[in-house]
Amino acid sequence: MMEQIVHSDPDCLFCKIVAGKIPSRLVYQDEELFVFHDIHPWAPVHFLMIPKLHIPSMAHVAGEHAALLGRMMALAPKLALQEGCLPYPEGGFRMLCNTGEQGGQEVHHLHMHVMGGPRPWLKG
Ligand code: 5GP
Ligand code: ZN
Repeated sequence: MMEQIVHSDPDCLFCKIVAGKIPSRLVYQDEELFVFHDIHPWAPVHFLMIPKLHIPSMAHVAGEHAALLGRMMALAPKLALQEGCLPYPEGGFRMLCNTGEQGGQEVHHLHMHVMGGPRPWLKG
């Protein structure tokens, strides 16, 4: 059975980052969202967008989270430009949510990767 959604999980790496217990390079935050640079970037621009709420994965998302995820999606293009991605269509960016083990998820706190910048990239 899937675990219950708790506001913050003391054992979760990204909850610790939100709480400031583990340092990160902040891109943006508000009441609901926290955005920071990936520690091992695959691309010249690579940041992670997370809800402050500890939602373990996209598999845990329900209707009540639609507005939160919508805000995240709507913010991504603005932050991508702010962080140095070139404008669409020549530039652009990639958004990616790995989900579950077969989906390649390593940190079990929902996060959207946003990657961009001149190629080649390390992966993808
Ligand atoms: P996943 O494989 O779960 O989709 O991605 C997890 C991402 O988190 C990886 O790209 C990894 O580099 C990043 N990451 C893991 N630990 C840390 C950390 O302590 N700080 C930051 N900023 N990123 C991390
Ligand atoms: Zn968490």
